[in-house]
Amino acid sequence: MSLRTHLQNHPGFLVWSWKITERLLLAQRGLFERLGLERSSRLVHWLEKPLKKVLFDCRMCGQCILHYTGMTCPMTCPKQLRNGPCGGVCMDGTCEVIPENDCVWVKVVERSAKTPWEQELSRLNPPVDWRLENLASWVTFAMGLDQTTVGGKEGAVHAEDGRQ
Ligand code: SF4
Repeated sequence: MSLRTHLQNHPGFLVWSWKITERLLLAQRGLFERLGLERSSRLVHWLEKPLKKVLFDCRMCGQCILHYTGMTCPMTCPKQLRNGPCGGVCMDGTCEVIPENDCVWVKVVERSAKTPWEQELSRLNPPVDWRLENLASWVTFAMGLDQTTVGGKEGAVHAEDGRQ
């Protein structure tokens, strides 16, 4: 088992790290706003990109939700699904596109149960805004640019919100 898989299967350290990182990033919001999105991204890219590549196989979508998906990057799904699995998950939990791999969303569900954010699995994540691709998600997060939700409402929309 790789170190990445071990850390993701036992996400306590990753959860702790994200909580610290989140606080640090939010404290830098004013600085990022003064510098602007592009310059701020260049400033933190050198750290975020290699670190998240090693830890999560990050694809630099620029709008990170992995703390809501069991510290498992949804963009590593061959279909890049951000709101649950497709209908092609095999009965043994493997992926129909890459049969030798486990379905990313099977892992998301298993690992989310070990994080404080399991209830966020019902969050309806907006489609990827490709204009943010390759920008630093740490910056888009701190500046609130990754917070666009379905329907443009304030705050997250969850699946149960639509129930009659
Ligand atoms: S920034 Fe996007 S591609 Fe990178 S780990 Fe987060 S969700 Fe995955």
